[in-house]
Amino acid sequence: MGYGEQGRRRPPVVDLADRRALEAYRPADAAVVEEARQLKEAALLDFGLTESAVASWLYAKCHHQIATTAVDTAAVVASGDGTCLLLYNPDFFVGLGLSGVKFVLFHEARHLVHRHLLADPELRDDPVFTLATEVAVNHVALVRLGRAHLPLLDGRPTGVDPRQVYDAYVEDLATHGLEPVSYEVFTETDMRVYGELKRMRHPPVPDERLCVHLVAGAVPADQQTIDTVTSSALLNSLLAARRGHAGAERELLDLMGRTEEGSARATRLWGTLGAGALRGETTRTRTVDWWQRWLVDVLGSKLRDGERLVYPKKRGALLAALGQDPMLARRGPVRDKVLVIAYDTSGSMPDHVIRWLTELVGRIDGVEAHWLSFDAVVMPFKPGERSEMGVPPDGVWGSVYGGGGTSFQAVADHVEGRTEVNGRVFDVRPDAVVVLTDGYAPPITPAEPEKWIWLITEGGNEWPETHTPAMACHRVTTGSR
Ligand SMILES: [Zn+2]
Repeated sequence: MGYGEQGRRRPPVVDLADRRALEAYRPADAAVVEEARQLKEAALLDFGLTESAVASWLYAKCHHQIATTAVDTAAVVASGDGTCLLLYNPDFFVGLGLSGVKFVLFHEARHLVHRHLLADPELRDDPVFTLATEVAVNHVALVRLGRAHLPLLDGRPTGVDPRQVYDAYVEDLATHGLEPVSYEVFTETDMRVYGELKRMRHPPVPDERLCVHLVAGAVPADQQTIDTVTSSALLNSLLAARRGHAGAERELLDLMGRTEEGSARATRLWGTLGAGALRGETTRTRTVDWWQRWLVDVLGSKLRDGERLVYPKKRGALLAALGQDPMLARRGPVRDKVLVIAYDTSGSMPDHVIRWLTELVGRIDGVEAHWLSFDAVVMPFKPGERSEMGVPPDGVWGSVYGGGGTSFQAVADHVEGRTEVNGRVFDVRPDAVVVLTDGYAPPITPAEPEKWIWLITEGGNEWPETHTPAMACHRVTTGSR
């Protein structure tokens, strides 16, 4: 997907998913490539620190970021193998300067989010929707980045200007005796922009050169890859918001407000994510099990960064100036959180619950996860190592070790460093311990009860809720309601 095409449009000169070909294609001057790379890094650093947690997470997931003259502008390629590539033309970036590069990168990230949340194929086939997307994305970019106008290239603004489209809308409606809404109402939500443009007798057809998104199929955009990468970025932004990142919280609330209205898909996706917690919503929905929302929320707070954590703006900028990777600088002072997930194997655990939990944890970045199965003894395992679903290795489920029934104390003894398993002591201090169990075993009082999260299967015993001290505890529902 690409932004602000200025010159003649041309079909891709190489396969845009072929990294080697992209790098080999007519390399730009080395100094220009380096300058463009530094601009890109500086832009991403600012996103992570203040301007857009969502864009920051998205680009953290674009493992390959390639300066190439094979594209005229910039584009995010979502290829069928599940990877995302950021491609940018180095001359274009140098011409734009830092503030323009930020605008373009934000624009591209927002396109992915838009495509994920509003993926209705009927909408996508409508050229008016394509235009509405450009208007909505650029409107948000102007507001979020605090800009008065589109980025300039060679002294001229580049991209679809939401104000100009609005003016054309007012004129069209006036000609046909219809009442236009104000610019504020026009741009209120993404579907509102579309709905109002649909009222026009002759919606404008934007110049294809303004954005590669305006050309159907110009850039590989595998929907499944977009969904995986974007939902992961949103989840991590949500967790960051619950950990106290105020910028991430504001951005997500705004994004929800813009996309929920008029889109059942977007509403469902936000629900699945448990994002309603940001608004203090605790209502049950039919589309998502409440315990899943609850767990996302409670995990977010247990993995919260300490009060004293200050985003290292100065230090990050300094490292960027020294040519070091700001991605590392951003993460550097924040140690990975340690999460323990313990499955009680003495009872029967619903597969889909285990699968959901495994996927959720797999998508949380900055977390070191330790998986344990237990009954009377504890046994570490790696999800996916010997079983695709992340359940313990064959032969562990349902088997009883040592014949002593189930022991939560065995889990506590291990994660608190008192017992060896396979000759090893657990020598890291967990930030959170999730126990999935039916609850039937002698209650325990862990050394740090505030870190423990109990998920109790249906028909199980919810003793941790009434224990002294009470611990975070929720019943896992296994139906779809
Ligand atoms: Zn665009």
